[in-house]
Amino acid sequence: MPHANYIAGAWVPARTGKTDEVLAPASDGVIAEVPSSDAADVDAAVAAAAEAFETWRATTPRARSELLARVADAIAADLPEIQRIEMQNCGKPLSMIEFEMDLTVDNWRFFAGGARFLEGRAAGEYLEEHTSYLRRDPLGVVGSIAPWNYPLNMATWKLGPALAAGNTVVLKPSELTPLSVLRLAEITADILPHGVFNVVCGQGEIAGDALVRHPKVAMVSLTGSVETGRVIARTAAETLKRVHLELGGKAPVVIFDDADVEAAIACITEMSYYNSGQDCTQPARIIAGPGVYDDFLSGLTESVGTIVTGDPFEAETAMGPLISAEQRDRVSGMVARAVEAGAEVTVGGNAIDRPGFFYEPSVIAAPAQDAEIVQRELFGPVVTVQRFTDESQAVAWANDVDYGLSASVWTSDVGRAMRMTAALQFGCVWVNDHIPIVSEMPHGGFKQSGYGKDMSIYALEHYTELKHVMIKH
Ligand code: NAD
Repeated sequence: MPHANYIAGAWVPARTGKTDEVLAPASDGVIAEVPSSDAADVDAAVAAAAEAFETWRATTPRARSELLARVADAIAADLPEIQRIEMQNCGKPLSMIEFEMDLTVDNWRFFAGGARFLEGRAAGEYLEEHTSYLRRDPLGVVGSIAPWNYPLNMATWKLGPALAAGNTVVLKPSELTPLSVLRLAEITADILPHGVFNVVCGQGEIAGDALVRHPKVAMVSLTGSVETGRVIARTAAETLKRVHLELGGKAPVVIFDDADVEAAIACITEMSYYNSGQDCTQPARIIAGPGVYDDFLSGLTESVGTIVTGDPFEAETAMGPLISAEQRDRVSGMVARAVEAGAEVTVGGNAIDRPGFFYEPSVIAAPAQDAEIVQRELFGPVVTVQRFTDESQAVAWANDVDYGLSASVWTSDVGRAMRMTAALQFGCVWVNDHIPIVSEMPHGGFKQSGYGKDMSIYALEHYTELKHVMIKH
C-alpha cells in the first residue's frame, strides 16, 4: 500500500515532500511515513473531487448503491489485512477488532441501501395552476475529518452517506492513524470512479484547516474533540459552509437500587475499557443508588482487576495501549488531580512501565460532582463511581456536564425507565445496556457533543440540500 495521498485515483506525495511519522502505540516504533500535506495538496484534492462531482452527481441511486455494495464486499474480502493494519496502528486487541470491522462492513451495506431511499413527499398544488415538489440534491465536495479512535469505522460514517447522496469526498484521516484509510483507497481504486474519494494526510492545523477554509468545499464533517469542533465551526463560518460535528462525550450510567447489579458490572467491565476507554460513548461516570453503591463498587473493582492488558496481537489480551504518550499522560494527570482533590483509586491508577503507551484499567470512587474527572472527557481506561441519594439528584448529576452524546439507565422499573429516558439530555439513551449501535439508528450529540447525525437515513439527509421546485401550468 503506497504511503501517499490519494488524489484523482493517483498516489502522490506532499508537494513539499514533507512527511509525518506514524507510530505503533504498543511499541512506540515507527511503522510508516505519510505525506505531511498543506493547502496546495488539499487544493489539488478538492479540484479532483469537484471535477468528479459533475459526473457522480448524475449517477442513479441504483448505480451508486451497487458501487457502495462492492466497497463493502472489498472490505469484507480484505479483512485480515485491514484488521492487522488497524491493530498495529491503534493497538486494538484481536478480541475487539472483529466486531469493529463487522460494523464497518455493515455500515457500507446500509449506506448502499440508503442511496435508494432518499425521497421527497408527494407533489402538490399549493397555489392555483402551480405544482410544487421537493428534490434532495447533493451538496458538492464534502471535506471529512476523522479521529484516531476508530479510524476506518469513523471514516465510513462520513464517506457512506456523503457518497450515497451523490457528493464527492476529500477525507483527512487523523495524523496518528492514516493507514487503514489508505488501504481503503487502495482496495476501492477499481470500484469508485477516480476523484470521487480522495485522501489527504496531514496535521489538523495545516491540512485539516485548509480543507475547512477551501471555498469549493460545500460541507465539513468532523468527528473529533469539542475543542477542534469549536475551531472548525468558527473557521467554516467565514465561507458559511455546512458543518456536521460528532464530538466528545462523558456518558453517565445511572444504576438504581432495583437494577441487576451483576449485569451492570459485567457490561461496564467490558464496555468502559473497550478500546482502552477511547470511545466517545464510553460508560464513564457511574452514578449508583444508595442501596447498591457498596456492592457495585466492590464488585466492579474486583472485576476490573482481572482485565488482561498487553500486546494487542496476543489472543488473551482484552485491553491494549492508549494511542499516544500524550494521551497516556493526559489520563495520568487527570487521575492524579482527582486523587489530590479527595477521590479514591480502588484499582489501577498508574501508567504501566513497558514500551508503548499503556495505562492500568482503573476505578475512581467518590469524586465530587464538580471535579475535573467528572466534568471533562478523559478518553482512557478509567471510570468514576458516585453515590446518589434519590432520582432527582441522579438526573441532575447525569445532565450536569457540557456533553450530551450518550447515557444509560439501569432499573427493573419500566415507569422509571420511561421517566429517565425522557429526562436525560443525550443523543442516545440505553436501558439496561450500554454501547450497542446499529446502522439503522442515528448516532449524534446534544449540547457540546455537536450537531448532525451519523448512521441512519438522517445522516443521508444531512449530506443533501432540500430544493423546492415550483412549476406554473
Ligand atoms: P481531535 O479533535 O484531536 O482530531 C480529530 C481530527 O481533527 C484529526 O483528523 C485532526 O487532525 C483534525 N484537526 C485537529 N485540529 C484541526 C483544525 N484546526 N482544523 C481542521 N482539522 C483539525 O480528536 P481526536 O483526538 O483525533 O479524537 C478523539 C476525540 O474524538 C474525542 O473527543 C472523542 O470523543 C471524539 N469522538 C467523537 C465521536 C462521536 O461520534 N461523537 C466518535 C469518535 C471520537
